[in-house]
Amino acid sequence: MSTVVRLVGCACWLLLLGGLMLSQAEARELRIGVLVFQNKDVAAKEWQDLNVYLNHLRPDVLFRILPLGKDELKRAVQDGQIDFMLANPAVYIRYQRYHGLSSPLVTVMHCYDEKSLHGFGVSIFCRADRADIQCFADLREKRFAVPYHLSFGTAIVQHEMLLNDLPEVRPEHLVEVGFPQQNTIWAVLQGQADFGFARAGLLEQMAANGKLDLDQLRILNRQPFADYPFLVSSHLFPEWPLAALRHVSLDDQCWLTAALLQWRQADHCRRPFSLHGFRTPADYTVVEEVMRKLRFPPFDSTPDVRTSDLWTLYRSQILVLLVLSAAIFALGLYLYLSRLQLNRIRRELQSSNKKLEQLATVDGLTGVGNRRSFDEASKRLWASAQRNRTLLGLLMVDIDFFKAYNDALGHQQGDWCLQQVAQLLGRACKRPDDLIARYGGEEFAILLPQASLDDCRHIARHIQAQLAERAIPHPCSEVSPSVTLSIGCHSQLPGVDGQLDEFILTADRRLYVAKNKGRNRICWDEREEA
Ligand code: GH3
Ligand code: MG
Ligand code: MG
Repeated sequence: MSTVVRLVGCACWLLLLGGLMLSQAEARELRIGVLVFQNKDVAAKEWQDLNVYLNHLRPDVLFRILPLGKDELKRAVQDGQIDFMLANPAVYIRYQRYHGLSSPLVTVMHCYDEKSLHGFGVSIFCRADRADIQCFADLREKRFAVPYHLSFGTAIVQHEMLLNDLPEVRPEHLVEVGFPQQNTIWAVLQGQADFGFARAGLLEQMAANGKLDLDQLRILNRQPFADYPFLVSSHLFPEWPLAALRHVSLDDQCWLTAALLQWRQADHCRRPFSLHGFRTPADYTVVEEVMRKLRFPPFDSTPDVRTSDLWTLYRSQILVLLVLSAAIFALGLYLYLSRLQLNRIRRELQSSNKKLEQLATVDGLTGVGNRRSFDEASKRLWASAQRNRTLLGLLMVDIDFFKAYNDALGHQQGDWCLQQVAQLLGRACKRPDDLIARYGGEEFAILLPQASLDDCRHIARHIQAQLAERAIPHPCSEVSPSVTLSIGCHSQLPGVDGQLDEFILTADRRLYVAKNKGRNRICWDEREEA
């Protein structure tokens, strides 16, 4: 009998041992990676109670809660070394996009002073002795201490700045000081940056531990949340979510969710960030919106924009732009047309001026210069000859017995005759600077720059010869059957003291000598005649 009992006892032990060995062999491990920015040992202690609770609840599974730094967590998620991830909302949203994490299963709850906290914000501060930074608006163009330029806290501060109509902080104004967040406080206190931020509650915690004198800092943009126990400068955002990696079964996800929702920290509210328990998942769309607005990864690539989106988003700006463009175009067109009209008016004015000038200087009947043009040209050519020490010649030409011509043939015929004589004079004096003018009545004056007395005489003879050849009949002339001219010639080197009046008078006197001596002749000396 005792042998049988012993045999049965042995069989039971063997069975128990076999069962134990079997359960050991079947035990699975489920790993929860928790993002930590501080000391991992402190974090491990914080999560110890929960780890024990989970293992106690489910002996067939070995739960391990692993505190991981930023880069360790990234690798663990990439390589599938963990099954669940607990991280801040920004990291969660990034990894959900990149690695297909599940929706949030639960959201962490912290507690303070016996009360659960349902969100977190940041305290934005500068040194209390900065007289130039009194309010949020003074942060424009100031240096900003951040643990990491893509941390969610950085996004929260930048978002708050946008809400306060401040521009985003430019990259060159970001002073990256690394984790833990306390670094931002030291950077501001030591003057490496003008302002910084910390998770709401951290300042109070450090003050309570004697590590910080709160009077050294000025909290900016303080929010009046009645039931929030910390100094906070921003809106509140949902606490950290826990999510499953892609490979985790739905059973494990459901089981862990149920277990976490049931769990509460026994000795809670020891310090501001005490882990209190978990709640049903919070809404993280608000976090996503902030990240999208600030183009934080994974929303840092330029989104695909359709033309219709542009119209929807920027309708008023596009309309203003169109109206402005139309106004500018209309103004440009108006200016262009005005300019064209102005040019046309200017051209008309120029041509009218030219005509007026012509009318003012040209003799209407004969087409040669009038008396005014002679007066101007004589002054000009006299001064020029004076300056250049050159000769100036002058012929005074008068038609003989012209009154009688008129009386005999009529005034119109007289006009015609004047025109014929003027044309003939024009043909005889070809040099561009020569000037022919109607001096008065039937008398013409010809200015001949650089012409000597011989030259003048020569031209006068040529004129008379041409007229003789032209042979305009003169029925009443006492000296010839055709029209004749009397010409007074003079040429002079003006010299310094020369008088223009005297010069003209001399030529005129010689004309009258020619007249007195019988007409139809040239006189170049008051005593001589041709
Ligand atoms: P002389 O030989 O001494 O120069 O005698 P003249 O008759 O030519 O001189 P006078 O001064 O006595 O007369 C000039 C005439 O010229 C008088 C006038 O009828 C005429 N006359 C002056 N201007 C014009 C004009 O524009 N047209 C016409 N047809 N005749 C004119
Ligand atoms: Mg005359
Ligand atoms: Mg005369």
